[in-house]
Amino acid sequence: MDSDAAPELGFASLAVRAGQTRTVEGEHAEPIFATSSFVFANAAEAAARFSGALPGNIYSRFTNPTVRMFQERLAALEGGETCIATASGMAAILATCMALLKSGDHLVSASGVFGTTLSLFNQYLSKFGVATTYVRLSDLSAWETAIRPETRLFYLETPSNPLMELADIQALADLAHAHDILLVVDNCFCTPALQQPFKLGADLVIHSATKYLDGQGRCVGGAVVGDQQRVGVDIYGFLRTAGPTMSPFNAWVFLKGLETLRLRMRACSESALQLAQWLEMQPAVERVYYPGLRSHPQYELAKRQQNAFGGIVSFDLRGGREAAWALIDNTRLISITANLGDAKTTITHPATTTHGRLTPEERERAGIGEGLLRISVGLEELMDIQCDLERGFQRLA
Ligand SMILES: *Cc1c(COP(=O)(O)O)cnc(C)c1O
Repeated sequence: MDSDAAPELGFASLAVRAGQTRTVEGEHAEPIFATSSFVFANAAEAAARFSGALPGNIYSRFTNPTVRMFQERLAALEGGETCIATASGMAAILATCMALLKSGDHLVSASGVFGTTLSLFNQYLSKFGVATTYVRLSDLSAWETAIRPETRLFYLETPSNPLMELADIQALADLAHAHDILLVVDNCFCTPALQQPFKLGADLVIHSATKYLDGQGRCVGGAVVGDQQRVGVDIYGFLRTAGPTMSPFNAWVFLKGLETLRLRMRACSESALQLAQWLEMQPAVERVYYPGLRSHPQYELAKRQQNAFGGIVSFDLRGGREAAWALIDNTRLISITANLGDAKTTITHPATTTHGRLTPEERERAGIGEGLLRISVGLEELMDIQCDLERGFQRLA
C-alpha cells in the first residue's frame, strides 16, 4: 500500500496498513531489514546521499526501512506529522529534552510521572542547568503558578501511575501556548487507541513502546511524535548523533503490535472496568482508583478525553503492606512483575517496587500507601483473574 493514501483511512485500517512499502519481492507482511548499512550504485550517489542532496538510507543509526514503517504507522495513529523511534521510552524522553532544552531552561512536570523520568530530570538534566518544578497533575492553577520566563516545557502522563489521576490536556495546552511553552504528553497508558493528545492541543507525544504498543511484553522501545521541525529535524538530529536508535527487529515487533492495538486496548479496558467494579464491592478494599468508575473524581473528564478507560486498576487494601503482600502471594495466575501493558495480567506493590526509592514522606505526599496495589489487566478471561484474587481475599477475611 502507498503510505501517501494513509491519512484518508480510519484508525483500524491505519493500524494495519500505514507505513508499509513493498520491495520487489512482493512480500505481504512487512520485512525486517537486518542491515546496519546500505550500498550505493556509485561514488557520486554515495556523495549525494551523504550531502543530503539525495534522500535515502545510509546507515541504520540514521534510518532503517523497518523502523521507518513503525514510525509512519505510529505517526498516523497519533495524528502527528512525523515520528522518531528510539531504543526505549527513556531514550525518547532524553532525546526530547536534549534536543529542545538548553542550559538555563526550566520545565514544569507533573509530580506523579514515571519514576525513572523523575530521576532523569533530577539527577541528569539538573547537571546541565535545566531545572524542574513539580506540580500536581490535576491542579491547573499550580501549573500556571510554576511558570517562569525561562519555562520551555510542560511534561505529563495521563492517567497517572499508579493512582489514575487525569490531566485536562486541552486546558493545559491552552495555558502552555499562552506562555509559548510546549506541552509534552507521555501517552503510554492510553495509547492513541484511547486518547489522541494532538487533537486536544498537545505539541509532542512520547511513548514507551515497551508497554501496550508491543502488548506482549517482548521488546524495549520508545518513540516521539510531533511536528516536522522539532521531531523530524531537532530530535532526529540528536538521535542520529547520540545513538539510542531502535533496532529493526524491535521495530518489527512493535509494528505488528500496532495492528492489534485497538482490539487489545478495548478488551483490557472492558475487563478492567468490570474488575474495578468488582473490587469496589470487596470488604477488604478501601478504595479503587479507576477513571471509569463513577466514584472517580474525574469520571466526566475521562469520558470526554478518552474513548475507554484503559487497563490499569489500582486499589487500597485495608491492612497495609501485610495484606497487600498476602494478596500478591496468593495469586497463581497473575504475574508478579512491575511491568504493564502485557497480554498477561500483572500485579505490583508500588510502595516497595516502582516507588520504593521515594522517602516515606514523598510516598505519602504522592498518595502511595502501604496497602496500595496496581493491576495491569491483560487478556485472560476476567473470571480467571477474579478467581485468582478471590483466593487472596478469602485469606484476608
Ligand atoms: C515504562 C515507562 C516509561 C519508560 O519506558 P522504557 O521503555 O522502560 O524506557 C516512560 N513512561 C511511562 C509512563 C512508562 O510506563
